[in-house]
Amino acid sequence: MVFGWLIRFVVVMLLVRLAWKFVSGFAQGATRRPVSGPARGMPLVQDPVCGTYVDQGRAVTARRKGTVHHFCSDDCRKAFLEGDVSSA
Ligand SMILES: [Zn+2]
Repeated sequence: MVFGWLIRFVVVMLLVRLAWKFVSGFAQGATRRPVSGPARGMPLVQDPVCGTYVDQGRAVTARRKGTVHHFCSDDCRKAFLEGDVSSA
């Protein structure tokens, strides 16, 4: 009975997939913590050049068209002001 074996195999595979989905979903819900964010009350701002999140107090700032932008380093600030990332 080759077909009986095949059907059993498929059913087992489906059950394993369902169980895996359930387990991974449960694990995701259980481990939902703040992702390494410093809980110091200092808001994080995103560097528009490299995408890094930096403390607003530590960030390098630049004013452009009336908006203050925050950067992780002077290099990113320079790159932004030189227009390397015009889409941002
Ligand atoms: Zn940066």
